[in-house]
Amino acid sequence: MKFLLATHNKKKRAELARILAPLGVEVLTAEEAGVALTDVEETGETFEENAVLKAESGCRESGMPCVADDSGLSVDALDGAPGVYSARYAGEHGNDDKNIEKLLDALQDVPQEKRTARFVCTACCIFPDGTRILTSGECPGTIAFAGSGSGGFGYDPVFVPAEADGRSMAELSDMEKDAISHRRRALEKLAAVLSERKM
Ligand code: IMP
Repeated sequence: MKFLLATHNKKKRAELARILAPLGVEVLTAEEAGVALTDVEETGETFEENAVLKAESGCRESGMPCVADDSGLSVDALDGAPGVYSARYAGEHGNDDKNIEKLLDALQDVPQEKRTARFVCTACCIFPDGTRILTSGECPGTIAFAGSGSGGFGYDPVFVPAEADGRSMAELSDMEKDAISHRRRALEKLAAVLSERKM
């Protein structure tokens, strides 16, 4: 069975596809499936709500089972912000440099030991018959005082994963990021449910 991958973020789409392929879940992008996906307004207040909105819309528009994710960064010293607003924290959707600048400003007086944070990802798969699967994963770490590295996307240059060696997420190889990422953890659980149900 082939699944439509519903996301407009090219870097995230690449990550989703490369994580899902070895898990045995075959995904098609909207272009590959020949579907024009509407840009879904992320009006939900939780990662779950937004992941469902995106997967539901993709499934309805394509008639295919559809996989989507909603993800973001939750910073303890900011009471969980930017959270579901991660992509548009500084106002403009998807401006990674401005988002990072705003985050570092907000944390400028916060000492190292209080800079704990986590990436969160909720993955959702919806089938045309309404069957819905939701899973989630987290990657704990801390926010650095300045960015480093050029890999990944979003907040990767300022996020130092607890399970790495002090390098930022943007300094890890794709393989190293995938081994510990929130997205990998959520998708691994999703793939396990799909294979249990023989979908
Ligand atoms: P959305 O899931 O497309 O709504 O956007 C999630 C936003 O959270 C991205 O635009 C990034 O700012 C941030 N984000 C989510 N996952 C990652 C990641 O793996 N690395 C860095 N930033 C991320």
